[in-house]
Amino acid sequence: MPKIAENLTRVRQEIAAQAQSAGRDPGSITLLAVSKTKPPEALCQAYDAGQRDFGENYLQEALEKIAALKRLPIQWHFIGALQSNKTRAVAEHFHWVHTVDRVKLGERLSAQRPAGLPPLNLCLQVNIDREDSKAGCEPEQAQALARALAALPNLRLRGLMAIPAARGGTGAFARLARLMQSINDQEGLDMDTLSMGMSDDLAEAIGAGATIVRVGTAIFGARSANV
Ligand SMILES: *Cc1c(COP(=O)(O)O)cnc(C)c1O
Repeated sequence: MPKIAENLTRVRQEIAAQAQSAGRDPGSITLLAVSKTKPPEALCQAYDAGQRDFGENYLQEALEKIAALKRLPIQWHFIGALQSNKTRAVAEHFHWVHTVDRVKLGERLSAQRPAGLPPLNLCLQVNIDREDSKAGCEPEQAQALARALAALPNLRLRGLMAIPAARGGTGAFARLARLMQSINDQEGLDMDTLSMGMSDDLAEAIGAGATIVRVGTAIFGARSANV
């Protein structure tokens, strides 16, 4: 796995280059290393190369890694499918969750966030291309959901997250950015996070204003089958 450090360097350089060509401060973009299916040793290598934010999709697997790497000051982001039966563990063990698309999930996370921990950072997932197969709220619902989520204690609504349709070119990233701006303006909110862009579409996402890019393959290499 010695390539992880090199891969990270390359991804950071690409982020910096894309930020520069978009006239943005590279420091305004957080690289989230998506480590699903990868062993703790791979995460350690990335950590040793300076990586601090890690994204996990599968709760049980994530909890094992969080326990194994307890000694490291890592920021853990939950980016997998979220159902009610997972909210307690997410509230107890993560710093961020990107995949909230219903008020009920927010209410549970808020109620289950342990006293003494800072608020859980949250992104509202939007089904920006209206795909039948995809999680996320409809774009029209986002404003009302953001209003409700922002009012919950123990959570901090940070912004919007999307996974655009595989065949891009539809301006999905720019639409998500405009949606956040419009919700901020109309609701008086201060969302500051656009979680969008993965290994294959970093450039477009950064051009459209991504503040968190979620990158797995380009850092850790390919995953086996379908995950
Ligand atoms: C797996 C995953 C990623 C990373 O995808 P890559 O193509 O490997 O960079 C990003 N976001 C989410 C929500 C994912 O599930």
